[in-house]
Amino acid sequence: MAPDVMTIVFLAIMAFIISYMVVTALKSRQEPVKLKRTITVIKCSSCDHEQSRDFKEGDFVGKEEGQCPKCGGKLIVSAIYVEEIPEKV
Ligand SMILES: [Zn+2]
Repeated sequence: MAPDVMTIVFLAIMAFIISYMVVTALKSRQEPVKLKRTITVIKCSSCDHEQSRDFKEGDFVGKEEGQCPKCGGKLIVSAIYVEEIPEKV
């Protein structure tokens, strides 16, 4: 007796659903949602004062960021980097 068509269709659908679930599970394990934030580092051009804050649109390395609170010198953006915040377990 030939296998029932409905059985084959059912098995095919089951196989599809299972493989879809496995792929989804693997993906979520491989790519955990990581929180990221962009940090802008600002350094004084006259003294060793350094500070960092969240990146704002329009920030770029070399940009003047106002006055140094220590010596009144020019504050200049010295670095911009992305920091990954580890997941809280
Ligand atoms: Zn300074």
